[in-house]
Amino acid sequence: MTVVRFAPSPTGHLHVGNARTALINWLFARKQQGSFILRFDDTDTERSKREFVEGIRQDLSWLGIDWDREESQSKRMDRYRDAADALKDKGLLYPCYETPEELEFKRKRLRAQHKPPIYDRAALKLSSVERSKLEDAGRKPHWRFRLAHKDVVWSDLVRGDCRYNTANISDPVVIREDGTFLYLLPSVVDDIDHGVTHIIRGEDHVTNGAVQLEMMDAVLPGVLVQFAHVPLLAGAAGEGLSKRFGSLSLGELRDKGLEPLGVTSLLAHLGSSEAIDVFSDMAAMIADFDLSCFGRA
Ligand code: GLU
Repeated sequence: MTVVRFAPSPTGHLHVGNARTALINWLFARKQQGSFILRFDDTDTERSKREFVEGIRQDLSWLGIDWDREESQSKRMDRYRDAADALKDKGLLYPCYETPEELEFKRKRLRAQHKPPIYDRAALKLSSVERSKLEDAGRKPHWRFRLAHKDVVWSDLVRGDCRYNTANISDPVVIREDGTFLYLLPSVVDDIDHGVTHIIRGEDHVTNGAVQLEMMDAVLPGVLVQFAHVPLLAGAAGEGLSKRFGSLSLGELRDKGLEPLGVTSLLAHLGSSEAIDVFSDMAAMIADFDLSCFGRA
């Protein structure tokens, strides 16, 4: 069965770009009689707010998007810790002790040499004595995932054949010094545990896609997921949309008196090869939906 997820961080209100990602996932799931998960990526406990969780639920409901299951990452910390421990045992997560200033200095030096600012893996060369010394001096480690430095290839349902060599990326930090998780590992663990079959999201996540495929294979070898990275919407001057882009928040569109079906009709075809049409209802929109129309080719 097809399983998709829409995974907002509840750190702000939904803007039309997020809503479009939610809608495309929902239309895809409903067309395939699959399941749509609303997942709150709320591992950042300082910035995630209850009011935004409620706001996102309200905005989706207003649009006519329903969900079959709701998940919150903040409730699954033990599971992520177990997954991280397993990766540590395999040597795929390694402790690093550089301060932000030291890392910035390294990056500056590389840029001055016209080299890409990729992390040099100095922490991998530390002996256990050196590590103990750092810890005794009060340094706490952050943990990076050790990329395989190989070509990761996938057939993206929107972008076609993708190839990305992970030697071109810094080993990503997955656990901060205070023990909290960044986005990558919880997302991979959830996508596996929840049986997600298709990850449909904005193309700003393409590089993450390569990292996540490697990480997925490390967490559960052989697991299969399909990606679809959809071109992003931009403002009139080409600028990206953000949660602070207040005028394009769904709440504002609602307050202006726009009809939800007008908004979803527009979003369902914006950036695709299809003409913009107003649908009579969501069922008609589902029947019409075709993910391949978002292709770049
Ligand atoms: N929380 C992530 C975001 O909002 C989810 C990205 C994803 O779909 O994997 O960007």
